[in-house]
Amino acid sequence: MLEIKNLTVRYGSITALHGISLEVRENEVVALVGNNGAGKTTTLRSISGLQKPAKGDILFQGESIVGKPVHKIVQMGLIHVPEGRKIFTKLTVRENLLMGSFSIKSKTEVSNNLERVMQVFPKLKERINQYGGTLSGGEQQMLAVGRAMMASPKLLLLDEPSLGLAPQIVDVIGDTVLDIAKLGIPILLVEQNANLALEISNRAYVIETGNIQMSADSADLLKDDTIQKTYLGVS
Ligand code: ATP
Repeated sequence: MLEIKNLTVRYGSITALHGISLEVRENEVVALVGNNGAGKTTTLRSISGLQKPAKGDILFQGESIVGKPVHKIVQMGLIHVPEGRKIFTKLTVRENLLMGSFSIKSKTEVSNNLERVMQVFPKLKERINQYGGTLSGGEQQMLAVGRAMMASPKLLLLDEPSLGLAPQIVDVIGDTVLDIAKLGIPILLVEQNANLALEISNRAYVIETGNIQMSADSADLLKDDTIQKTYLGVS
């Protein structure tokens, strides 16, 4: 569904990605794990058209999307939830959600999407008329993901959804990722929290200083102590 081939990205003289390749197939949750500065965010920004690659190709449903403007990539159904949530604090939950569907013309599609978000996030339904700024960190993260779901995603790119959240909320976020995947929306999940990412994904890629060091089924990576210690900072 999504295929990254030999992608190289530079910031001036710094090479952030050294020809990485990865793939997300239908119905998969794929994790991209690695330490701070490894190149995870750069990978997502390249996919959504925010960062121009120096070399390589990105195919979505067989079509190259490199060089396409961001709004075209959104229209194709590739929806990015950036790190740090970036919700509108002075808009209500409903208004925030509707911002996600601004480019969808069909009212039925918008109301179906809203219905689906309410099912996945009952907390947002309870708080539908509250201002975004009054929500807790975990609820704001749910709102950011809910807003992305309003755009009728064919594939979701999630950047560090667990960042800064209390452990019990991290588990809730993990469960919602699984709920979204059950709706048939594949997910590319970027996480520093490797354990969480491996627990909720089918496959994972380990990235280190702009290189993919390995990829495997997540369950196998979770079981492998050496890999955990070497790449994932788990002691
Ligand atoms: P984090 O979890 O901190 O976001 P990451 O794995 O997502 O880390 P990136 O943000 O993709 O890593 O950064 C990869 C490399 O590119 C790092 O060395 C970083 O310092 C560098 N980098 C990222 N953005 C820029 C930029 N706008 N200008 C210059 N260098 C950058």
